[in-house]
Amino acid sequence: MTYCGRFAPSPTGPLHQGSLVAALASYLDARQHQGRWLLRIEDLDPLRESISARDAILNSLEAHGLHWDGPVHYQSQRHQAYEQLLHQWQQQGRIYPCPCSRKELQAADGYHPRHCRQQPDWQSPAPRALRFALSDTEGQWQDRLLGALSYHLVAEQDDPVLKRKEGYYAYHLGVVCDDIDQGVNQIVRGQDLLESTPIHLALYQALAQPAPGYLHIPLLCNAQGQKLSKQTHAPALDDRQAGNNLWCALRSLHQSPPADLQPAPVTEILAWAQQHWRATALPGPVAAGGSLAVPS
Ligand code: GLU
Repeated sequence: MTYCGRFAPSPTGPLHQGSLVAALASYLDARQHQGRWLLRIEDLDPLRESISARDAILNSLEAHGLHWDGPVHYQSQRHQAYEQLLHQWQQQGRIYPCPCSRKELQAADGYHPRHCRQQPDWQSPAPRALRFALSDTEGQWQDRLLGALSYHLVAEQDDPVLKRKEGYYAYHLGVVCDDIDQGVNQIVRGQDLLESTPIHLALYQALAQPAPGYLHIPLLCNAQGQKLSKQTHAPALDDRQAGNNLWCALRSLHQSPPADLQPAPVTEILAWAQQHWRATALPGPVAAGGSLAVPS
């Protein structure tokens, strides 16, 4: 089967060095496997996103030589597919409406004070989220870096939101629906998404679809040990320094790029990186939940 990977940023801000590390790892892994590498803009929440962030992401990827295959895929154009899937699951009794607030659920240890799952009220006009009804599951998956990982999903308590009260489709729905429809079979992403994987596996199973392979890479952290993000004020990538950014990202990924590639044109750095990419060089199971350092 041909490898098909992807990078799936949410356009809530420009890319920073941490997102470049994630993009580069998935790009190199796909290219080294002679695979396809797709770009999906996860624009599900218009209140947190902007066109300028989306454009900045596309420009940065181009400037860093990370050229994707095929057209850019936008989740904002996929509402019909999400609605169809929700309809199918509603018919099958796999989802239920839930007006409970986070506070109410926390106070009730994850159980629904209105018995939303046991007695679904589809008629009520009150704003409500749609949740997927999980089964109790003890499972395991094989992460390409972290090895065998076990998980325990608890029915009702862990039931994920697939459509939010505000009417927006939720991450778990979009990501699984699109990865399946786009034929993505290898996912390389940050360890901040590890906790989502068991939920995604449950959705694949509900759809009788084979789960993709997973490689969860450690996160790039600042000197205070915080994940680089918009919240921790990570600076936007300077596209004029693309070669240097790539070289630093390779260092962070423990790929030992040769010193004579600093400075070097983007194409040369990527050619070297593609040939020498070793996912196994990343800090592995011992450092699960660990972090990558920004090279000084
Ligand atoms: N859109 C998600 C993010 O920006 C990534 C989704 C994924 O890789 O599964 O964090």
